[in-house]
Amino acid sequence: MKRRDFCKSALAAGVATAIPVQQLLAKTGVSSLEAVTSGGGSTTLEGAAVQELADSMRGALLTSGDAGYDHSRAIWNGMIDRHPALIARCEGAADVSQAITFARERDLLVAVRGGGHSISGKSVCEGGLMLDLSDMNSVRVDQANRTARADGGCLEGHIDHEAAMYGLATTGGIVSHTGAGGLTLGGGFGRLCRKYGMACDNLIGADIVTVEGKLRHVSDAENPELMWALRGGGSNFGVVAALEYQLHEQDPMVIAGDINFAWEDARDALMFYAEHGNELPDELNLNVILVTVPDVGRVASFEAVWSGDPNKADSALEPLRKVAKPIADTVGAVPYATFQKRLDNSNRHGVRMYMKSGLVNDFSEGLVREVLEVHRENPTYAIFFMQSGGAVNRHAPDDTAFPYRSAHSNMMVWHQWFDMETDEERVRRISNVRSDWERLRTHTDGYYVNLNEEDAAKTHANYGKNYPRLVQVKNKYDPGNLMHLNANIEPTTT
Ligand SMILES: Cc1cc2nc3c(=O)[nH]c(=O)nc-3n(C[C@H](O)[C@H](O)[C@H](O)COP(=O)(O)OP(=O)(O)OC[C@H]3O[C@@H](n4cnc5c(N)ncnc54)[C@H](O)[C@@H]3O)c2cc1C
Repeated sequence: MKRRDFCKSALAAGVATAIPVQQLLAKTGVSSLEAVTSGGGSTTLEGAAVQELADSMRGALLTSGDAGYDHSRAIWNGMIDRHPALIARCEGAADVSQAITFARERDLLVAVRGGGHSISGKSVCEGGLMLDLSDMNSVRVDQANRTARADGGCLEGHIDHEAAMYGLATTGGIVSHTGAGGLTLGGGFGRLCRKYGMACDNLIGADIVTVEGKLRHVSDAENPELMWALRGGGSNFGVVAALEYQLHEQDPMVIAGDINFAWEDARDALMFYAEHGNELPDELNLNVILVTVPDVGRVASFEAVWSGDPNKADSALEPLRKVAKPIADTVGAVPYATFQKRLDNSNRHGVRMYMKSGLVNDFSEGLVREVLEVHRENPTYAIFFMQSGGAVNRHAPDDTAFPYRSAHSNMMVWHQWFDMETDEERVRRISNVRSDWERLRTHTDGYYVNLNEEDAAKTHANYGKNYPRLVQVKNKYDPGNLMHLNANIEPTTT
């Protein structure tokens, strides 16, 4: 095998100068590559087969030591450090099909990377084949029909940006470098979800490459069971090469910012949220965070976004401002797409994070007490409530695979740091969050799969009555459970 041959796919993709693919086999003088199977065993990949896969792709196929390999395998959470045997930098559905077929035929461990934000690191694997979709990131807006078609590796910011040009928007996450694929397939909360529903509620179609390597278009008319499952059932059914969204007419300017309260007023802020959060108009999204701000100290902060008629913003926001005397109030007119990037830097790639989260149906006084106590004891935690309600809760639990339609909010407790910790320090930080979470967990009702990709038994319980239907879809499209690095729906056919 000649090195020139192995480079062919990279050259064809026009990335050869940026990513000079090395010929691993020639480099090391061996004719095969060790890899990990779906079940965790080991297997040997013959050089000729690897070469054939490289030749069949438009994007690059990378192995350890190749330029671009470390970049692809580094995901958002800096604590995750895994080394796939191969990384397929897919440039389109055809590349996805080649890579997934290669993996299925050899029963390889498969990871799919969209935006790489899986906190537990489900988008990268040790020893298997990683499909990196980052290069599949174009968005096309259909202004007349108010829809957008986004490639499977698009980030939330790509969609916000393109839609805003036409005075349109749809629900997306609150950090613009989060992957639209992972976020939407698992649900998708965001600053517009009370008005327009979750991201998955706005998913009207998809192109999915199933594990057989077949490309299927999915909508309510075509493969409707699969469409239902994609709205919250995660990445269990194949690799989504493109997502189609319903867009909505949305003033590109919103009235948004923070209203911060001193720590002594934190209880009043949380009680207001508990008692009145559900009564707020759909156009008002209110997230709340307890956090320690350098040079200021502990604060309770409302992040308010008014996406309705600007003339009605003041009256909608008035009750928030009356909770107590704010120590800061930054609410003002700002482009929605700009506001969507405000947390990008504080949540930048490489951060180390350990998080626990759960959905809160009943925001009780007891929860408020416990939250304040936990933060008092651990000022380095962030305790965050992402609001639900409004249009999210006007769906029945079985309208989509995403079942949680009665939550007040999504509670998250995390510890995040940028410095390289010692192992001892890491264990301490993680175990603190775990034990404190036990105190808060009793106030939750299930969890959001995108933030807790837990074990199968928990996933089963979490999907509740929707689980058997999800298993039926899984049995049909992925009976061998090749797609299992996710909140896994276990097929009953294996
Ligand atoms: C900083 C940060 C902010 C967040 N903000 C929000 C928020 O505002 N709202 C919210 O609801 N959630 C939020 N989340 C959670 C987020 O929804 C999940 O982490 C989600 O999985 C991220 O998707 P991704 O594509 O970036 O992740 P990845 O790590 O790339 O993938 C996550 C999972 O989805 C699968 N996947 C990704 N793309 C595809 C695809 N095209 N086809 C098939 N499978 C795919 C992967 O295989 C993996 O199992 C946030 C997470 C972080 C770290």
